[in-house]
Amino acid sequence: MRDITDNPSIEADVVIVGAGFAGITAAREISRAGKTVAVLEARSRIGGRSLSHPIGDGKIVEFGCEHIGRRGAVADEMADAVGISSYKQYDRGYKLTDQHDKLVRWKGQIPRANPITLADYFQAAMRLERMRREVPEETPWDAPHARRWDSETLSSWMRRNMLTRGGRTLMSLLTEAGFAAPATEISLLHILNYSNGLGGYRAVTKVTGGSLERRLVGGSQGLVHRLAENIEEQIFLGAVVRRIEQFRDRVRLTGPGFDAVGRRVVITVPVPLAARIEYLPALPGYRDQLTQRLPAGSVIKYLSVYDEPFWRKEELSGTALSHVGPVQAVMDGSPPDGSPGVLTAFVTGPNARKLARLPGAARRDAVVGALTRIFGPRAGRPFELFEKDWMAEEYTRGCYHGCTPPGLLTEYGAALRNPIGRIHWAGSETVPIEYGSMSGAIDSGRRVATEILDLEAYSQMNGRTV
Ligand SMILES: Cc1cc2nc3c(=O)[nH]c(=O)nc-3n(C[C@H](O)[C@H](O)[C@H](O)COP(=O)(O)OP(=O)(O)OC[C@H]3O[C@@H](n4cnc5c(N)ncnc54)[C@H](O)[C@@H]3O)c2cc1C
Repeated sequence: MRDITDNPSIEADVVIVGAGFAGITAAREISRAGKTVAVLEARSRIGGRSLSHPIGDGKIVEFGCEHIGRRGAVADEMADAVGISSYKQYDRGYKLTDQHDKLVRWKGQIPRANPITLADYFQAAMRLERMRREVPEETPWDAPHARRWDSETLSSWMRRNMLTRGGRTLMSLLTEAGFAAPATEISLLHILNYSNGLGGYRAVTKVTGGSLERRLVGGSQGLVHRLAENIEEQIFLGAVVRRIEQFRDRVRLTGPGFDAVGRRVVITVPVPLAARIEYLPALPGYRDQLTQRLPAGSVIKYLSVYDEPFWRKEELSGTALSHVGPVQAVMDGSPPDGSPGVLTAFVTGPNARKLARLPGAARRDAVVGALTRIFGPRAGRPFELFEKDWMAEEYTRGCYHGCTPPGLLTEYGAALRNPIGRIHWAGSETVPIEYGSMSGAIDSGRRVATEILDLEAYSQMNGRTV
């Protein structure tokens, strides 16, 4: 990989903005088809929302994405192709729910609660399962009730369709942990579409058979690095793209200290960040309006490291949900051999926004305090506590992915991936299936590569510029 300061002037058939899963996959596929590529990455590393952190002995913890679900065929296929295997998320033993007055132990998929709360939760979950089957996977905006379902949030639907406060609280907590945004901010149609992409509403927060089933040996960023093999010389780090100009037969990208020219450009940066680039000529109104409407979720991820996964000896899986906060969900994040022990804690939605504004020591006390309340005094003595606030990351600005509000899918959904002249769009928010995931990002990279290669082949055959 090269530093942009040593390469201020770049030329390639296709210039790609962003070196996450989407950008690297697009570059790999286009390069394999014989075209030249240049990947411009703002950070001094590749991987984007995928980031491993070494903890010694060749082991890592993951600051970003981690899990591949049952449906994650694309990520699996790519990992297989480059010789990376996966292992099951540790899930044996009891899970815990941290309630205001007590800790509740449970097994299975849904926390133990009083039967009326559970019955209410299940009837709502079953309804969502039935509704999602009416949503076409590729074009959710064509669902028979798309407009109605996209005109409200999951929260407003819950208020009309759930009878108990306990049921609504449980669904809200699971939603917030799964989407890093509260149910008040997410379109009902998006929830249905997102669930479809994972194989069902209940798959969103499920380990076995769900979206949290497996992790990659060596971490997800290891997969990005493997995919980048053979194109490393075409990746330029420290290249912050600020402006994109389109001409009849080419594009020109500029940023501090560099200039890159290509026949086409692929933009893979998160949608709100794409709005911070200047376009000449200006983008059509609908595309700009789209970029004004897809905010990222809010999450701070903590990795609390212990000499061993002590909770396993107490027959605990390491999975916990908290109604108290600020941590809302915890999982066992230990390496495959279980050493050292790692608890991965997620602070999401409004809790993350609030916590992020506190001084570092107060944040640490709040998180360690929550882990101690849930897992006992040993959890209060980590030998290391790592913190990753994705909202503060200049080139991401929130995670896990874009949180689709009411009106976005039906009004602008199709525009998410429609090219504009020589500008093509990819990234995990541009796919209907496995939206917002590493699998989705890889899929978008493959889709955009095919889109460009087809256009280039057509141009060559007909001697025309398209
Ligand atoms: C805490 C967390 C947990 C997650 N958990 C999971 C999970 O368990 N499973 C899962 O499948 N997914 C998960 N995700 C989501 C997953 O990480 C993303 O969907 C995926 O990595 C997105 O890839 P991408 O290539 O589309 O975008 P990104 O990874 O965001 O890549 C975009 C790249 O563009 C660069 N960039 C931005 N602006 C500019 C600019 N102006 N010029 C040049 N470069 C720029 C960025 O630095 C970045 O490298 C998680 C994400 C987070 C943060």
